[in-house]
Amino acid sequence: MSTLFSSHLPEFEHSAHKRAQILLPMPLASAFDYAIPADMALSLGEFVEVPFGPRRVNGVVWGLEQEGDYEFSKLKPIVMRHDCEPLNDQVRQFIEWVANYTLFPLGAVLRLVMRHGDALKAPKGIIAWEKTNALPENIRLTDARKAVLAALGQEPITNAALKQASGASDGVIKGLEKAGALCRTSLDPDLPFDIPNLDRKGHTLAADQREAADQLCEAEKGAFLLDGVTGSGKTEVYLEAVSAVLARDPSAQILVLLPEIGLTLPFLKRIEERFGAAPAPWHSDISGAMRRRVWRRVLEGQARLVVGARSALFLPFKNLKLIIVDEEHDAAYKQEDGVLYQGRDMAVARGALGGFPVVLTSATPALETLINATEGRYRHIKLTSRYGPAQLPELSLIDMRKNPPQKLDPIKDAPVQPVWLSPPMVEGVNMSLERGEQSLLFLNRRGYAPLTLCRKCGYRMKSPHSDTCLVEHRFENRLVCHHTGYSIPKPNACPQCNAVGGLAACGPGVERIADEAAQRWPKAKLEILSSDRTRSPEKLKAVLNAMRDGDIDILVATQAAAKGHHFPGLTFVGVVDADLGLAGGDLRAAERTYQLLCQVSGRAGRADKPGRAMLQTYAPDAPVLQALIDSDRDKFMAAEAAGRISMLFPPFGRIAAIILRGSDERGVQELAKSMLESAPRANGIEIWGPAPAPIYRLKGDVRVRMLVRARRDINLQGFLKDWANAVKVPSNIRRVIDVDPYSFM
Ligand code: ADP
Repeated sequence: MSTLFSSHLPEFEHSAHKRAQILLPMPLASAFDYAIPADMALSLGEFVEVPFGPRRVNGVVWGLEQEGDYEFSKLKPIVMRHDCEPLNDQVRQFIEWVANYTLFPLGAVLRLVMRHGDALKAPKGIIAWEKTNALPENIRLTDARKAVLAALGQEPITNAALKQASGASDGVIKGLEKAGALCRTSLDPDLPFDIPNLDRKGHTLAADQREAADQLCEAEKGAFLLDGVTGSGKTEVYLEAVSAVLARDPSAQILVLLPEIGLTLPFLKRIEERFGAAPAPWHSDISGAMRRRVWRRVLEGQARLVVGARSALFLPFKNLKLIIVDEEHDAAYKQEDGVLYQGRDMAVARGALGGFPVVLTSATPALETLINATEGRYRHIKLTSRYGPAQLPELSLIDMRKNPPQKLDPIKDAPVQPVWLSPPMVEGVNMSLERGEQSLLFLNRRGYAPLTLCRKCGYRMKSPHSDTCLVEHRFENRLVCHHTGYSIPKPNACPQCNAVGGLAACGPGVERIADEAAQRWPKAKLEILSSDRTRSPEKLKAVLNAMRDGDIDILVATQAAAKGHHFPGLTFVGVVDADLGLAGGDLRAAERTYQLLCQVSGRAGRADKPGRAMLQTYAPDAPVLQALIDSDRDKFMAAEAAGRISMLFPPFGRIAAIILRGSDERGVQELAKSMLESAPRANGIEIWGPAPAPIYRLKGDVRVRMLVRARRDINLQGFLKDWANAVKVPSNIRRVIDVDPYSFM
């Protein structure tokens, strides 16, 4: 009888379940069986605590069974059920989908969702105060006490907030408690997030913006590409859709993904201004307390609008109804360690599973996205001009062979320093300074110099046991490896030949360009913006605000400044080395260069004053640069597409990388050989390699890569799974499969 009715009567179903499959947030492919205690009723998706070896760990109910062909008494019982919302079907399906797609174990994907498992326990309350019914007679009221009483409202207020509002000390507050004028109470520290005020309207949209917004507001499902030049108002447009979805469903939640934390901070402010409520933030720099608060409130549906980095995709949303992927082309959406996934693509899958729309926005969409749009899988919505008087900047190339940088007069007896800015570039900055406008000098390289070389013996400073060069960071006077994190104070002598004073900085990083700029324009207010100089969110915010408010004349920056920012006074952008990205040689090098240069030049002239961008190059005929100055994105993308079709590269074919890594060089090479020998034969699949990875030695390991290329109609994951299962990997070697790789290092 219970079987017949179980699907209709969940309460009967609960009592009948004896065994549960519990998925644990660990790199394991399947769930474990546990006994359900007789007094515990469970549903799928609930969070439970179970014994695991000597420990107790939290997991999720992945399956439920009734009486069956198993020995109940041999199962360990579930310890407890957490008193919170379960992970809903959509999130569980998403976890399964991501695991199947990326070929990472199911439990490893669950870990992305449960990283903040401590949020499952109800947090300790925080001290708060409320008024007593009546003020005690004869109470002595000093000014400080009066200020405290005046700061009390109808609702309890936290100790910290009361102190801030009244300016009073703990002593004054405690004194009032003793006198019977205040009552102590406790508040849940994880306050729900404010509900966006939908009565607040955004800007009045221009006709093309309105048309685009209407399409998004009406959308019920499917993927959309909102394709508009920088400054065309894409954000204004999608915020209309955000508002419409929130208005349609009073419990709907929305996720806006941004590629960079630097973009998140000003964006949070913009949203707060638009909706009168701060959204829930999610990125690597939020505090542990905020992390727990966001996680819990997202699970309970009390964070309606979440703004975050790619990992926010794995928050346990209760009722997710729209995802926006801003700057969708950005490579930062690819997670490059742990579970390897492409956040943009996973967002589209999440929307498909949840039956809600996903909007990808960009001025320079990825070729993958563009092809999805032109082939009709995504709806393509275009905005072709900047909003209002703002015009796209005038772009020009500087041929460095004809315009070599002019040396500066040396300071006193110092040797003449190499310089990097050509006369036209210098003139560009001069003009901007004369008009009281701002300039951005862009070089996508952190630190002072990318290479430190001994002039006597030719030794290159490297990270130990690695093939990676140390980058000089002059402010800290250190040499740092950007791959391994290794860092040392800059030595005086060469570690190989011991020659003193022979170590020379080769090539420029942003710090070196800033040095040159400081010498050329000693009176200008200068700042550097790069992820390591502005690591703390406060510092980053301060620099971005100063730039926005016109308090910086020249900003020297890496790509941390290239994306999305709106600096109204910026009229000149100088790209120091437009050839830099092309050297990477991977399949997306030209596309990425195009996107980055387009984004960075798009920072100029975003308000009423016209902007100019100049790009220094030794290869002015390179198709990427020609396409850029002709503003002919479509022609460039068509050429890119033709190149990729001929190679059957994504999106016209599929690729996966296999990386073997270990300290036993012979073992790694033998494994690579035996993998190649045991590869299943399959039509339409080619295997390239094994070959040493471009960074072959890393932290004492060697790394060998293989690349698998498949026709689009082939089940690549099925092939990779069969192949991986055919070869046993020794425990001292790590094998990583990267489906849709973006990094080839
Ligand atoms: P995008 O996201 O395409 O780069 P934004 O949405 O950030 O563009 O818009 C660029 C600037 O123009 C912003 O300051 C924005 O507030 C302003 N803007 C865009 N559309 C409008 C509008 N309809 N009315 C007023 N200001 C607008």
